[in-house]
Amino acid sequence: MTITEAPLHRVAADDFVSRGHRLLIDGEWVAAASGRTFATIDPATEQLLGEVAHGEGEDVNRAVRAARAAFDHDSPWRRMTPSERGKIIHKIGDLILENADELSMIESLDNGKPFTMARAADIPFAADVFHYMSGWATKIEGSTIPVGQDYLAFTQKEPVGVVGVVIAWNFPLLLSAWKLGPALAAGCTVVIKPAEQTPLSVLRLGELLQEAGLPDGVVNIVTGFGDAGAVLTAHPDVDKISFTGSTEVGKKILHAAAGNLKKLTLELGGKSPNVVFADADLATAIPAASNAIFFNHGQACNAASRLYVERPVFDEFVEGVSEFASNIVLGAGTDPRSEMGPLVSAEQMNKVLGYLDSGQADGAVATVGGERWGDRGYFVKPTVLTQTRPDMAVVREEIFGPVVVAMPFDDPAQIVDTANDTPFGLAAGVFTRDISKAYRTAARLKAGTVWVNTYHVFNAAVPFGGYKESGWGRELGHAALDDYLETKSVVTAL
Ligand code: NAP
Ligand code: MG
Repeated sequence: MTITEAPLHRVAADDFVSRGHRLLIDGEWVAAASGRTFATIDPATEQLLGEVAHGEGEDVNRAVRAARAAFDHDSPWRRMTPSERGKIIHKIGDLILENADELSMIESLDNGKPFTMARAADIPFAADVFHYMSGWATKIEGSTIPVGQDYLAFTQKEPVGVVGVVIAWNFPLLLSAWKLGPALAAGCTVVIKPAEQTPLSVLRLGELLQEAGLPDGVVNIVTGFGDAGAVLTAHPDVDKISFTGSTEVGKKILHAAAGNLKKLTLELGGKSPNVVFADADLATAIPAASNAIFFNHGQACNAASRLYVERPVFDEFVEGVSEFASNIVLGAGTDPRSEMGPLVSAEQMNKVLGYLDSGQADGAVATVGGERWGDRGYFVKPTVLTQTRPDMAVVREEIFGPVVVAMPFDDPAQIVDTANDTPFGLAAGVFTRDISKAYRTAARLKAGTVWVNTYHVFNAAVPFGGYKESGWGRELGHAALDDYLETKSVVTAL
């Protein structure tokens, strides 16, 4: 008889996910005021993972009161020195690394992404963001400004206040780190509402925040749906909203925030172009362009979903990307052999399949993929669509799945205009061996990030965010920190 033992992190993750999950308000784990719960499921098996407290307006109100009290002038959090604050933030990063296997497994179960990917990317990067931001806590400085002998003028930076954080499901832990890191470094307090599809890793992070010594009420977690997000974003006692999600919901938040003119950071959708010139090193460009769309199953706001390839190498390039796609191993994210898991939900799978149907009905041709994979779990085959026209929905709209539209171009002078012909402006790629062509193209692309001869390269110190309808403000780097600070000018008569 053989006994197969699950690895310890799998046991820990299973134990965590199957618990009844509560809200974190003012340092206490509490049920929703209504007593209601909702189910979170494993998108690879469609099986129930666990029940989560269904937070609604009353819970959001309680959480905002706790965050406001924790922001009070004399609260433990506000009385801490920047150095003490920095140490706690650093400790959060350490605890994420110490629990990286378990967190990666939780993310894999709840979101569907491969454990190996979460372990290599999401979780260590989340730790990096806390480590990077912890250093800023002691370096938030104002300036003295010469205004003549009769006055002393200086500025000081202050935390913006209570921050409402609302995030999408594609990188649940990582996106919360992108927001919590700078918010805490600045000295703000937070109410966070994770996406309904993926609440679990943020709840586990809540335990780690407590373990790191964060005072009660500094970060509050309200799991729930869009209605809870709507109450938070309209709340008159919230000073700022930091949102990652769709452009459609971003616009709703803009209206909701108008009541008390909240500050806003909005990280929204994209339809990012990847421009490959004929002189590119194809051995690098083909796998890079493939990962640029297929990483995280295409569920990345910055996914390079429009691929423009100069005509002389177009056929070879499409063949290469199609071959790459056909070699991707699909399967449950918890299986170490899987390179691509399911999409996050039935709704998301059906949305992507809808685009594949409409695109193919309009005349697009799938050189690979084009359909669902299997009949259990929300898997979609990685897909390359060719023979599209610029006005097709698959070319213009964000699909948020493993689908790239590949188009040839003839005129290098025109391609930037074509690449910029979109309401979005999050990211772009350029592949060429000609360095001046690369920089000239990068300069003209209307996108918050341009990658040259690579794609998806992130760093906690490098700002990320959108032009046009891809958003407002920046994540990461000290640009993100600035978005959680106010500047006060103090002018004294001498
Ligand atoms: P979504 O529908 O916009 O949801 C995002 C979050 O907003 C969820 O927590 C959602 O709650 C909440 N929400 C829904 N309606 C709301 C309302 N009226 N007021 C306040 N909050 C509300 O986005 P998604 O479909 O989950 O995620 C995919 C989208 O996110 C894509 O468009 C993608 O491009 C974008 N995204 C952008 C970035 C970036 O950095 N730019 C990163 C990742 C994703 P529930 O889900 O619980 O209903
Ligand atoms: Mg949603």
